[in-house]
Amino acid sequence: MIFKQLFDTTSSTYTYIISSGKGREALIIDPVIENTDEYIRVLKNLDLKLVKVIDTHIHADHISGLNELSKRTRCSKIMGEHSSSEIIDIHVKDNEKIKIDNIELISIYTPGHTDCSYSFLMNDRVFTGDTLLINSTGRTDFQNGSSYDAYDSLFNKLLKLPEKTLVYPAHDYNGTKYSTIENEKNNNPRLKVSSPEEYAAIMDNLNIEIPTMINIAVPANKKGITLDQL
Ligand code: FE
Repeated sequence: MIFKQLFDTTSSTYTYIISSGKGREALIIDPVIENTDEYIRVLKNLDLKLVKVIDTHIHADHISGLNELSKRTRCSKIMGEHSSSEIIDIHVKDNEKIKIDNIELISIYTPGHTDCSYSFLMNDRVFTGDTLLINSTGRTDFQNGSSYDAYDSLFNKLLKLPEKTLVYPAHDYNGTKYSTIENEKNNNPRLKVSSPEEYAAIMDNLNIEIPTMINIAVPANKKGITLDQL
């Protein structure tokens, strides 16, 4: 399997390129528009055919490369059914299969960070978007976020996955590349709560600044702007 984790230094976003092997179909999760040339270069070097691109949610801190990649490669644009993006080709529901060659992802509806947030399980690993971060969790104070929904997504969905499952988030601000469900259960300070109310009390009082990009990124991601419109 080809599995590449790329990092956008401006927004600290992780982007994932996945394929079953050289010359095969590929899928990208959470691309950043400014890095499109880099993704195309990786695809070309490995002779991969990009067929699907997924955003885990409408990002507020960077502009997605979803539409630009689709424009260049004709790949299908995928998001969860609650996404308000206007350019999505395939809306997935909870527990749907997304296939490329012999690779299969299963969608998991994990609202809370936003109401459109999905995670994607691929065998031994899960792409958690901003729902579950390494040693942290996604904020819940905009884009119809909900600390109660986030609690449910975390405790009743993601943390129910096998403990050895690798956790690959959409961001990390400390340079950590991945974690495990077990590690997050044991060490993530946000998960040391015993009730939804306790979790909400933490999340509803974080008092963190709104992302500087939010008023640009959210409308751009809903419209699916391309590089020539930047
Ligand atoms: Fe986010």
